[in-house]
Amino acid sequence: MISDTEKNGPRTLGKVRTHPTQNEALLFEKSSPGKRAYKLPPLDVPAVNSAKLLGAAHRTTPGLLPELSEIEIIRHFTRLSTWNYAIDLGMYPLGSCTMKYNPRVNEFVARIEGLAEAHPYRPESLSQGALEIIDLLRRCLLEITGMDAITLQPAAGAHGEFTGILLTRAWHESQGNPRRKILIPDSAHGTNPATAAIVGYAVENLKSNADGGIDLDALTRQVDEETAALMLTNPSTLGVFESQIHRIADILHAKGALLYMDGANMNALVGKVRPGDFGVDVMHLNLHKTFSTPHGGGGPGSGPVACKAFLEPFLPTPVLVQNQDGALRWDYDRPQSVGRVRAFYGNTGMFIRALAYILANGPDGLRQTTEDAVLNANYIRKKLEDVYELPYQTASMHEVVFSDKRQAARGVKTGDIAKRLIDYGFHPYTVSFPLIVHGALMIEPTESESREELDLFIDAMRSIAREAEENPDLVKSAPHSTRVSRLDEVQAARKPILRWRP
Ligand SMILES: *Cc1c(COP(=O)(O)O)cnc(C)c1O
Repeated sequence: MISDTEKNGPRTLGKVRTHPTQNEALLFEKSSPGKRAYKLPPLDVPAVNSAKLLGAAHRTTPGLLPELSEIEIIRHFTRLSTWNYAIDLGMYPLGSCTMKYNPRVNEFVARIEGLAEAHPYRPESLSQGALEIIDLLRRCLLEITGMDAITLQPAAGAHGEFTGILLTRAWHESQGNPRRKILIPDSAHGTNPATAAIVGYAVENLKSNADGGIDLDALTRQVDEETAALMLTNPSTLGVFESQIHRIADILHAKGALLYMDGANMNALVGKVRPGDFGVDVMHLNLHKTFSTPHGGGGPGSGPVACKAFLEPFLPTPVLVQNQDGALRWDYDRPQSVGRVRAFYGNTGMFIRALAYILANGPDGLRQTTEDAVLNANYIRKKLEDVYELPYQTASMHEVVFSDKRQAARGVKTGDIAKRLIDYGFHPYTVSFPLIVHGALMIEPTESESREELDLFIDAMRSIAREAEENPDLVKSAPHSTRVSRLDEVQAARKPILRWRP
């Protein structure tokens, strides 16, 4: 059956103008001399000689700035914001990144004045509320992960990995030998090998088996007395749950190595299973993925690290502790600590949002969320597996990975399909990752999407598959609806133009 979208082609983004004219683009082009966005009242005090006051710092030629009225500036930035895609505009199926809806109740709580205005140098006695939030969030996350101790210091997932592997190294050192290498499966996120290397370990690649899981024989051969840890994402970046996880933990532990779990995919596990129960020694979470806090375009995220009790003495300082009288305070006296990994808890807003999300859902709500996320991914898998190649038949959890094998026969690659998806009003899925799938299309719908939105996405993907057959050039030259079409990505990465020049 052909749906409306398949018949009528791409939907548009409502009234948002996605085809701006050239002169709407740049603030500088709109500048005209003498325009001002502000007016100061006339001077009613004696003028100072700014040249004398500033000395050499006094500039003699005015800076080259655009001259505009206030409304032109407001319109410029508001217009730019509509050229961007956001989870608040539509589905954002970026696999591995869990782009879920950021509930507004979180925002409401995070904006409460006493919390939003908190300052890191405010005395502990006046910060008990903020500290209590941190403490309660810690306890919730420990319950969810089944671990014994946790730090909220890291500001991102990769930062959490770094902290977790520092703990691993510190513990091995306390046993007399920091060890030399870390094993990482070929399905791993790129941050994993980068983390191991930056903490001073050699990275050894571990091949996946035909199901996309760890090859236990290869693991047994490769783990030795110089192995500090295995870094494992579970479910893996193929969206596959590592069903042998217990045995993997046993093989590592028999050689004194630790099991690190990259917990970025916890959206498939929360309320169902706990890493602490299946042999994980240390792991990180991404509050900005699993726990619905925004991914802050380079701004603060949150990557807490949870560990078993034997790693607790090594956690970064300061550690939140409770006095006899019940008051919370930071404890700096931690002789075995790896030290600070960050100056301040500038991302406290993330903790507040994550805690609001956890408490608003409660245990049953979180479990339902997990089930819905897995259901949505499997719905997409079922509805697309006849048109897109499914390289791994193993059961999918919260994300599904196809390949472009069938479309590539017509010269259409995963990147082309992703760009065509933009014309249909969707953010692209994750392209060409994981690396073990050639031409990967990695799709993670999350629980946020309704059946109707999933159907629109499925229609779009099916239309594109048909276009790839009938008119491959249409797909290969996409997107057609955006202000700029294909950028030279290599050039953009190697020689980025970061400032405007007249
Ligand atoms: C997102 C992600 C990371 C890194 O997290 P950041 O917060 O982006 O630093 C690590 N591993 C996996 C599997 C991820 O999906």
